[in-house]
Amino acid sequence: MTSKRTRLRLVQQLRDEGIRNEAVLEAMAEVPRHLFVEEALQNRAYDNIPLPIGDGQTISQPYIVAKMTEVLASGPLHKVLEIGTGSGYQAAVLAQMVEQVYSIERIEALYKSAKNLFPQLGLRNIQVRYGDGEQGWAEQAPFDGIIVTAAVEQVPEGLLMQLADSGRMVIPVGSANSQVLQVITRMGDHFQTVNLDPVRFVAFQEGIS
Ligand code: SAH
Repeated sequence: MTSKRTRLRLVQQLRDEGIRNEAVLEAMAEVPRHLFVEEALQNRAYDNIPLPIGDGQTISQPYIVAKMTEVLASGPLHKVLEIGTGSGYQAAVLAQMVEQVYSIERIEALYKSAKNLFPQLGLRNIQVRYGDGEQGWAEQAPFDGIIVTAAVEQVPEGLLMQLADSGRMVIPVGSANSQVLQVITRMGDHFQTVNLDPVRFVAFQEGIS
C-alpha cells in the first residue's frame, strides 16, 4: 500500500492531530515516504510511526516531521539547514516548501543513499554534506530555519549563530529518556526559547562515523 491514496489517509490523520499549515500537509501528501525506507518496511511507510533506517537510526514519525516543518514555516522560509539527513525524508518534505535545503549527515552510508535518492526523485534543491553537523554550514549561513533531527543535551552555540535575524531553530533537547521539542527564535542578539511537545529522538553524536 504505497499509493497516493494511502498517503492522503495519513495526511487526514495529521490534520486530525492538529497540523494546520496547508503547505505542510501538501508536502506530506507529495513525498513518497515508502522510497525512504527499505523494501521490507514499505508497507508500513504510511503508518504514523518511526521506522528503522539502519545503523541504529530512524526515520521520524510523520506527525513529528509535519510538526517540526510547521513550526519552521511559521515565518518566512527560504533557506533551511538540517542536521541529521538520515533517510532524507525530512529534507524532501522541506524541499517542497523552500528554495534551498542544506543537510548534513555524519554516517557515510546514510549520506550516500540520501544523496543518490534526491535526484532520482527530481529533488534538485537539496545539498547534502557528509560531516559533523555541530559546526553547521558556515559558507551558506545565515539560514532562516535550522532543524536538528537528533537530540542534543545542549543547543550547539555555533548553530545558533548561523540563524538569520528572526530565524527559527527546531531542536529536540534532553537526555535519552526525557526530551522536549524546542523552538528557538533569534531576535538580534537574543534567543527566545519555547518548549513544545515531549519527543523521543536518537541522540546527537559528535564527530563523523
Ligand atoms: N531527518 C531524518 C531523521 C534521521 S535520525 C529523516 O528524515 O530520516 C537522526 C540522524 O541524525 C541520524 O541519521 C544520525 O546519524 C544523524 N546525526 C546524529 N548526530 C549528528 C551530527 N553531529 N551531525 C550530523 N548528523 C548527525
